Amino acid sequence: MSGRKKTVADLTEAEIRGRRVLVRVDYNVPLDDDGRITDDTRITTTLPTLDALLQQGARVILLAHFGRPKGKPVPEMSLKPVADRLRELLEGRRVEFVDDTVGHAARHAVGTMYDGDVLLLENTRFLPGEEKNDSALAEEMAALGDVFVNDAFGAAHRAHSSTAGVATIMRGQGKPVVAGLLMDRELQYLGGALDEPRRPFVAILGGSKISGKIDVIRSLLPKVDRLLIGGAMANTFFKAMGLATGTSLVEDDRLDMARELQSTSGDKLVLPVDAIVAEKMEAGQPVQTVDREAIPADRMVLDVGPRTVEEYRRVLSDAGTVLWNGPMGVFEVPEFAAGTKGVAEAVAEATDRGATTIIGGGDSAAAVGELGLESRMSHVSTGGGASLEFLEGKELPGVAALQDAP
Ligand code: ADP
Ligand code: MG
Repeated sequence: MSGRKKTVADLTEAEIRGRRVLVRVDYNVPLDDDGRITDDTRITTTLPTLDALLQQGARVILLAHFGRPKGKPVPEMSLKPVADRLRELLEGRRVEFVDDTVGHAARHAVGTMYDGDVLLLENTRFLPGEEKNDSALAEEMAALGDVFVNDAFGAAHRAHSSTAGVATIMRGQGKPVVAGLLMDRELQYLGGALDEPRRPFVAILGGSKISGKIDVIRSLLPKVDRLLIGGAMANTFFKAMGLATGTSLVEDDRLDMARELQSTSGDKLVLPVDAIVAEKMEAGQPVQTVDREAIPADRMVLDVGPRTVEEYRRVLSDAGTVLWNGPMGVFEVPEFAAGTKGVAEAVAEATDRGATTIIGGGDSAAAVGELGLESRMSHVSTGGGASLEFLEGKELPGVAALQDAP
């Protein structure tokens, strides 16, 4: 794992005051049908970085992507609503928005900023070069700033012009290229768990597919003391053990892999002992609790059962570090949410006892948020895909391009 990166806190006041500080943020927030922001976590979590820069007189220029416009302007994917929300959050600051990213209008808007002002540029993915990590585009972005700050952990696994590209170019120009405070927090928690976990180190993996998380399992197994499995991926392990799985979601092409993981992991890998089953993945179904040896032929496993929750709670009771990725069941449907809720509560209790608890993964973070348990976890990652790639042991291009800590 790479060492610590230089951060905003390492910059001198001379490097900040009156400087054009280009900050890459992840403002890919959820909108409702009327274009209103339904959850502004991705904006509020960048405020520590913005405040640190603005209080020292920076001119903050924000780069962000939104949705998947695929290289051309799509009006519904404009960042304008985000600028409006940011203006409310940064009360008293001048927060401008310009519907241009690197063109004449963007350059003009940058040129008319005062110290302590904020400017949000239009969606970087409106430009065809962005997702290709086009270097000419990265050069144009680099020309807008004297300093580059990457606070977009959620976009750090992509090598795009506004993440890795602009950082590499600005470093080559001798400009400071550092991590924001949110980025630093993500790297400290996730990196700390992998590199020097307090033991016992318990990982919990769930979600829909074993195939999407196989690299995470392989990377975590040597590091953890226990790996608790839930979600649909447990079914593939059940079938590999020779158990009946009814109509459950099973990845038949992963049975050999599941068998191999079970035989090489000793007693580290822990599987559910019971399950909640129903006919369909829908609300309003009659549900049944069964032992894993008794899954009916015409039913599917949609959650872990209460004995499993108790067993996992017991394993978590003396954990020093907990890392959780992927819900235990189809938590979106109330009938199949109890496993995820029970495990989330057990993780929150581990935090209360002094364990470091980390939630990674988009759906897991959403589940913890819905349960109102966010503040009882040590850290809830803002990056779904990025946190998975980090846990797989991959180097994130957006992080690799930043300067190392002094
Ligand atoms: P994360 O985003 O936290 O990494 P995933 O995307 O891997 O999690 O998985 C989340 C999805 O897995 C949820 O939509 C949930 O409904 C689904 N899921 C969990 N358990 C099951 C199951 N037993 N059968 C089918 N789908 C499941
Ligand atoms: Mg997901």
